[in-house]
This record gives sequence, structure tokens and C-alpha cells, in this order.
Amino acid sequence: MVVLRSALAALSLLTLAAFVRLVPHRVPLFWRIAYTPHELGLGIHPSTETALDQVRVCTQRRFRLRSGWRSAENNLRVGGASDSQHLHGLAVDLTVPHAHREVLYLCAKEAGFTGFGWGSTSTHLDLGRPRWWTYDDQGQVLSGASAMEHLHKAPRSFRRDRGLD
Ligand SMILES: [Zn+2]
Repeated sequence: MVVLRSALAALSLLTLAAFVRLVPHRVPLFWRIAYTPHELGLGIHPSTETALDQVRVCTQRRFRLRSGWRSAENNLRVGGASDSQHLHGLAVDLTVPHAHREVLYLCAKEAGFTGFGWGSTSTHLDLGRPRWWTYDDQGQVLSGASAMEHLHKAPRSFRRDRGLD
């Protein structure tokens, strides 16, 4: 009986851990927990941390942080741009479901983010010069005219702000 109860307890804990990992934005009150240095990367810029905290509180969601500051080696390994804002600790990539992109964009703009990259699951935000791009379904960066083909990954307010809707 005790063994069975322990097994069930362990199973519930594992289920909870998997839930938090896969859909952190759906865990009630989880948004109140600040991102950790481990998630942000040691070279994160304090301005990025502040802006991201503002987004977390404004959206009341804690989107999964896929990438923050990257070392040069790490940036090479993940195929990041050679002048990536991640290298300066000024960028973050979050997993943001489409249903949450509208509020994410409004809060990110308010928090001072100026660079945006819209992918199928991932959204890039940075504090570099104002610019934007999209990612194709394989995660390749698209800019210029080809970026428009995946503009549906950006929320409506974003498109409207740029006269693209
Ligand atoms: Zn990025």
C-alpha cells in the first residue's frame, strides 16, 4: 500500500513537472516566479532582465525562455546570426502560443522591446535597433519580401503598427 502510494505520489510529481515544462504559461500563478539566472544566461543585460520581468507581470504569463544570453560558442552551435543581440545579452527567445501573441506584443512594446522575430512556436524579442523578421517552418530567418510569407505568425497589432494589415 505504502509502495503504491509513493509510486502514485512520484507519478503526480512527474506529471506536474512535465506540465510546468511543456505549458508553463498555463500554470496558475507560475508567472509570479522571476526567470532564473540559469534561464537568462549569465551574460544577460540588466535592461533585458527588467524588460522581460515587465512582460511577465504585464501578460501574467511565464512563457518558456528558450534562449537568453549566448556565449559565442553557444551562438555558433545554435546557428545564431554573427551579430546576434543574444551575444550582448539583449535578446530572448520565448515559446509563445499564437493565442497569446497579441498580449505578448502589446506588453513587449510597452516594456521597450524593439526587435521582433516571429516563428511557429518561438518569438524573439530584443532591445537592439527597431527591426523585425519571421522564421519559416524550419526555423530559418526570413527578411525582406520573403518575411511577408510568414507574417501570419505575428499578431494583428504588430502588423497594424507597421501598416501591414
Ligand atoms: Zn533570438
